[in-house]
Amino acid sequence: MPVRFDLTLTLFLGIPITAIIVLWLLRKESVLSLPGEEIWECEICLGVYIAPEGEKVTRCPFCGSYNKKQEARI
Ligand SMILES: [Zn+2]
Repeated sequence: MPVRFDLTLTLFLGIPITAIIVLWLLRKESVLSLPGEEIWECEICLGVYIAPEGEKVTRCPFCGSYNKKQEARI
């Protein structure tokens, strides 16, 4: 049954390609909020870098300075 074969082929090729495109789009959109990682801004050189979530002190990869987490104290 050639029609059935075409359908199967389309599904086998189409689903992974669609999944890759969707994952790529999701990843592209979530660049600024990666799971398990946080965006840090260096207090010294204002460089922006990514560090694991939950870290209290991180080291700036640009200038080597240590940055403490800014906690809201109201
Ligand atoms: Zn820095």
